[in-house]
Amino acid sequence: MKDFTSKTDADGVAIITWDTIGKSMNVMNQQGFTDLDALIDQALADDAVKGIIITSGKEGSFAGGMDLNIIAKMKDSAGDDPARGLFDGVMAMHGVLRKIERAGMDPKTNKGGKPIAAALPGTALGIGLEIPLACHRIFAADNPKAKIGLPEIQVGIFPGAGGTTRLARKLGAMGASPLLLEGKLNDPQGAKRAGVIDEVVPAEELIAAAKAWVLSGPSIVKPWDEKGYKMPGGVPYHPAGFMTFVGASAMVNGKTMGVYPAAKALLSAVYEGALVPFDTALKIEARWFTNVLMNPSSSAMIRSLFINKEALEKGANRPDAPDQKVKQVGVIGAGMMGAGIALVSALAGIKVVLIDAKQEAADKGKSYTADYMDKGIARKKATEDKKTAVLGLINATTDYDALKDCDLIVEAVFEDTSVKAEVTKKVQAVTGPDCIFATNTSTLPITELAKASNNAANFIGIHFFSPVDKMLLVEIIKGKETGDVAVAKALDFVRQIRKTPIVVNDARFFYANRCIIPYINEGIRMVKEGVSPALIENAAKLVGMPLGPLQLVDETSIDLGVKIAKATRAAMGDDYPDGEVDEVLFWMADQDRLGRKSNAGFYAYDDKGKRQGLWDDLTAQYPVADDQPDLVTVQHRLLFAQVLEAVRALEDGVLTDIREGDVGAILGWGFAPWSGGPFSWLDIIGAPYAAERCDQLTEQFGDRFKTPDLLRDMADKGHEFYKRFDKSAKAA
Ligand code: NAD
Repeated sequence: MKDFTSKTDADGVAIITWDTIGKSMNVMNQQGFTDLDALIDQALADDAVKGIIITSGKEGSFAGGMDLNIIAKMKDSAGDDPARGLFDGVMAMHGVLRKIERAGMDPKTNKGGKPIAAALPGTALGIGLEIPLACHRIFAADNPKAKIGLPEIQVGIFPGAGGTTRLARKLGAMGASPLLLEGKLNDPQGAKRAGVIDEVVPAEELIAAAKAWVLSGPSIVKPWDEKGYKMPGGVPYHPAGFMTFVGASAMVNGKTMGVYPAAKALLSAVYEGALVPFDTALKIEARWFTNVLMNPSSSAMIRSLFINKEALEKGANRPDAPDQKVKQVGVIGAGMMGAGIALVSALAGIKVVLIDAKQEAADKGKSYTADYMDKGIARKKATEDKKTAVLGLINATTDYDALKDCDLIVEAVFEDTSVKAEVTKKVQAVTGPDCIFATNTSTLPITELAKASNNAANFIGIHFFSPVDKMLLVEIIKGKETGDVAVAKALDFVRQIRKTPIVVNDARFFYANRCIIPYINEGIRMVKEGVSPALIENAAKLVGMPLGPLQLVDETSIDLGVKIAKATRAAMGDDYPDGEVDEVLFWMADQDRLGRKSNAGFYAYDDKGKRQGLWDDLTAQYPVADDQPDLVTVQHRLLFAQVLEAVRALEDGVLTDIREGDVGAILGWGFAPWSGGPFSWLDIIGAPYAAERCDQLTEQFGDRFKTPDLLRDMADKGHEFYKRFDKSAKAA
C-alpha cells in the first residue's frame, strides 16, 4: 500500500489519488514525494494517458501539509554537511513539482506536454497547495469549511516547495503578501477571488469538471515560462514594484521586530527571485529555505508551536481515566472571568449554569456572550440562530439548586480565601462530593483552598487567562491531594473548549504568573535605577516580547500589582526581594495611575483609552541616568528574569514537562515565540553560556540571577534540556 495510487480511465485521464495511510488528512513525507514522482513519470511516459488529475482520497480535504515532525528533524538527518543535505533535499522536491509544471513540454518551444489539473475536495494547506500551484489548473469543491493557503510562516518557516516563487509570480508581490507573510487562509470562494485557485465547483462535479478541462486541449504553459512574462505589480526595479517592496520590508520588520528569520528570508526569496528567471528563482528560494531550516529558531518554533502544542492538546499528560467530557458546567461568579468561561463553554456546546450573588450580575455575565455573538453576526462569522442556540445553553441565575446536574464547577468569585471557601461549601451542599470542583484563582494555593472542600481529590485549579475567549492557554493546577479523575476532567474540558492545557503542581503563582511577575518587576526595577523607560520597552519588543514590561503592568493593572506585592511580602517576610520595585509601583498607585483601566499608568492614554506613549512625568520622578546600559544587557535582564523562574519551577517540580514550560510560556504570556519558549531558548544559547551570563548578571545586579543548580549542572555536563528532559523523545 502506498500513499499515492494512479488509475487511468477509458478516456485516457490518469487520476492520481493521494490517500496517506493511517491519517485522517493527507500529509507529505519523503516517501510520498518519491511515489508521486514515479507516478508522474509513468503517466507522462504512457501514450495512452492524455492528461492527469491529482486529487485526494480523503473526504472533504486535499492535504494538511508537510509532516512537520519530519521538517523539525530534517537538519539532524541531513548528514555531516546539513546545509548541503537540506538544499539538495529541497531541490529534489522542486524537481518533482517542476516536472509537473512542465509536464513533458519541449523546453525550447513549449510545445507538447500533458495537462495536469489539481482537484481539491477541500482543505489544501502548505505543500497541499504548493503541488496544485505547480499544476496547470486548480479546481476546488465548493466546501465553505475548507481552508486553502500557505500557513508555514506561523510555525517559523515559509513555503519552500515553490509556493513562495509561484504565488509571487502568479499574484505579484502585493497580492501574494498577505498569503505568504501572514499565512492568511481562505475558503474556496475566497481563494478564487484572491486568484490562488481557478475554479470552484459543486463537490459532486469536481472530478468531472477537472476531467472536462484536461480533455479540452487547454494551453498549459505557465505565464512565467512564456517569453516576455512580467510580474504583476512590477519587479523590484519597476517604480510600482519598488514601492511594494519598500512597504513590505517595513511591514515585516515592524511586525516581527527582525527576530523571526522566516519572514525576512521569505521576503528576500521573493525580492531576489523576482529579478531572475524562474528556475534560478526556485534555487534562490531553496537557499533561503535552507537558511531558515538551519536556524535553530525554526525547529524550536515547529517543536513548540506545532508538535508539542498538539501533543498537549491530545492529552500527552492525561492520567489514565475514563472519558470525562463535561455535559453541564456550573460557573460561579459572573464577572470578567466567569462571563468568559461561560461563553467559551457554551460555544463548545456545553450547558452552563452561570451563578452570581445578584441576578443583575448573573444577567450581565450572560450579556457578554450576547455581545460576543452580535459582533460575530456583524462580521458574518455567526448567525442569529447560532446566537439563540448559544444563549439557550446559558442559565444565568442566583439559585444554587440549579447546579444539581453539573458534572464540573468552575469557581471565579473574588480573589479572597474566605469568599471562595463559603462558595465551595454552598456549591457542594447541592452537587455532593463527586462533582469535580475547580477554582480559577490566580494566586491562592490550591491545596489551601481545597481545605474548604469535602473531597480534596476532586478539587483542582483551572486557571484561565484574560480575556478568556482570546487566550489559548489554560493552566491546570494539581493540589497536594488532587486525584487523577479531576485532572482528566480538567483536561477533557479544556479539550472540549479547544484550548491548550498545561498541568502543573501547586506553588505560589503556579507557573505562568511566577514567570511573568519577575519580568514586570525587572522592568520596573530598571525605571528606579534610571534606565530610560523607552529603552526598557523597546528592548523587550526587539527581543520578541509582545508587550514591554511597563505596558504589560498597565494592561493587568497597577493596583493588582500592589495587591500581589503586599500579599507576597506578607508571606515571605524578611526574604522579600522586591522592595525597590514596590517603591515605584506604590508611588504610581498613589498618583492614581492604575494602568489602562484608569486611563493613566506608565503610559499616557487619551480620553478614549488609546495609548499615547510613555508618561512624560515618570522620568521627573525617576530621572534617566546619564549612563545607559547597552541593549543586550537590558534584554538579558528581562529574559533571564523569566527563564530562570521557569528553570526553578522545573527544579521545584511545579513543572514536570519542559514541553509544557515552553508551550505555556508562548501561549500564556507571549514569551518570545521565535525562541520556542524558555527551555528552547536556553538550548539555543547553550547551558554553559547561560550559566556564565547568569554569573555576570548576579555580580552586577544581584542574587535573583543566581544560576540554578540544575542549570549549573547542565552547563558542567554540556547538557541540553530537550535531550535531558524531552518526554516525547522518551516515549518515541
Ligand atoms: P470580578 O470581580 O470581575 O468577578 C467576580 C464575580 O464574582 C463578581 O461578579 C461578583 O459579584 C461575584 N461574586 C463574588 N462573591 C460571590 C458569591 N459569594 N457568590 C456568587 N458570586 C460572587 O473578578 P474576575 O476578574 O472575574 O476574577 C475572578 C477570579 O478569577 C479571581 O479568583 C481572580 O483571581 C481569577 N482570575 C482573574 C484573572 C483576571 O485577569 N482578572 C485572570 C485569571 C484568574
